Amino acid sequence: MVTIPAVSEDLLAKYEPVIGLEVHVQLLTASKIFCSCSTRFGDPPNTNVCPVCLGLPGALPVLNRKAVEFAALAAIALQCRVNETSIFARKNYFYPDLPKGYQISQYDKPLAEHGFIEIDIHGGKKKIGITRLHLEEDAGKSLHEGFPDASEKTAIDLNRTGVPLAEIVSEPDMRSPDEAYEYLTRLKEIILYTGVSDCNMEEGSLRCDANISVRPRGQKEFGTKTEVKNVNSFRFIREALEYEIERHISVLESGAKITQETRLYNANEGKTYGMRSKEQAHDYRYFPEPDLLPLVVDAQWQAELRASLPELPEARRERMMKEYGITVGDAATLARTRALADQFESAARAAKNPKRVANLVQSEILGRLKAQGLELEQSPISMAGVAASADLVESGAISGKMLKDLYDLCFERNKDFSMVYDEEGRPEQSRDTSTLERLADELIAANPKQVEQYRAGKKTMLGFFVGQVMKASKGQANPQLVNEVLTKKLEG
Ligand code: ADP
Ligand code: ZN
Ligand code: MG
Repeated sequence: MVTIPAVSEDLLAKYEPVIGLEVHVQLLTASKIFCSCSTRFGDPPNTNVCPVCLGLPGALPVLNRKAVEFAALAAIALQCRVNETSIFARKNYFYPDLPKGYQISQYDKPLAEHGFIEIDIHGGKKKIGITRLHLEEDAGKSLHEGFPDASEKTAIDLNRTGVPLAEIVSEPDMRSPDEAYEYLTRLKEIILYTGVSDCNMEEGSLRCDANISVRPRGQKEFGTKTEVKNVNSFRFIREALEYEIERHISVLESGAKITQETRLYNANEGKTYGMRSKEQAHDYRYFPEPDLLPLVVDAQWQAELRASLPELPEARRERMMKEYGITVGDAATLARTRALADQFESAARAAKNPKRVANLVQSEILGRLKAQGLELEQSPISMAGVAASADLVESGAISGKMLKDLYDLCFERNKDFSMVYDEEGRPEQSRDTSTLERLADELIAANPKQVEQYRAGKKTMLGFFVGQVMKASKGQANPQLVNEVLTKKLEG
């Protein structure tokens, strides 16, 4: 075990990290990539297997068209060029969870190449290149617990063997753990929009290997990299990279060299450990898979796939900002998933003031859902309810405070807004102006300087008075009414 001396800010500044990520995404097909076994997660071990995925002699793979379609959709969404012809290859290695002794993957002619993802970093945009996206089959799983003799034996579950994966390899374009985190966030968002994977890290349907090296700033050549494998959250990937950067720097500063190797991250300790020296490509003895024809995705099929893609996150955010006049921050939150964006847009289109809907959805709906640990689909308030309530506030029929109270009741009673609004007897905020007038008089008496400014022509002072009255009424007052009363008094 190596202990790492803390690396000073100066030393950190002297080196530049270089990061490239390899992400495996499980494709949401019903059956496996080369046989008709189910891909269902969580079934009893070794129940979804057949001679093909067990690798029995003589069994032949038949390519699942849906897997190709899903991978190509992901590739197009990631701005890749899809190769009309790609080739499956055998990647040979020995491991207990790989019954055939080789994995069917793609090597020198992958399904797609030359893509990119644009990330937001340091207030600007940066393109991270995607080297390739290829199709391959998943391996099985070694089990170390949950069965008799688990202390002495390892069991193998081959249900996952042959589940289709898209492997997405980035260029070594990232320069900090934050950029890596941002890349993964965007990548997951795009894949989720396409619907080809659920990207569930706990269930292993998104897995990431992080490659990292450092070099003295100004040096052109890359340093020797290490690869941190199978870290199961984006946050842990960032932590593992931060740890590796410091480790690389302290090794180099001590005059030693970085060993090219595969390492594992221990999230409890926040450290990585060497696992095995890195295989070289020639160790895998890649050769073309003789049991499968070259894969052809012709121009027409590509065009059909492209046309079937939904609007992607980046474009959707831009459009939502323009169409509804919402901020970058609003758009980022509201377009995080396709479902949320769809919901928001249905309410925004139905309501008079889309900006109010954006605020309501974020602070009143998402806030309450989060506090109660509920998913969007579990919200008692429908988007029609959001639109209706937004319009009530807009017209001054109810106050913002009343809306909040009504929403609380919706969540308590698990009922939609219109029902609760009726149950409560369609409450309206008071149009009684006597209290308002009293508040206005008090304010005017207490703030002669502001009154003078207003009367001297600084009409924006009205906002100050409105704000004070709203505050004094604890948000209960009807803003339009407050406006009228104050204007009358100030002008008078
Ligand atoms: P290998 O042959 O070791 O698998 P590849 O060239 O296929 O290496 O690259 C694997 C991943 O490692 C890619 O995501 C790539 O961007 C990244 N990578 C390559 N070289 C470096 C480096 N020196 N430092 C950091 N990442 C790197
Ligand atoms: Zn099978
Ligand atoms: Mg490689």
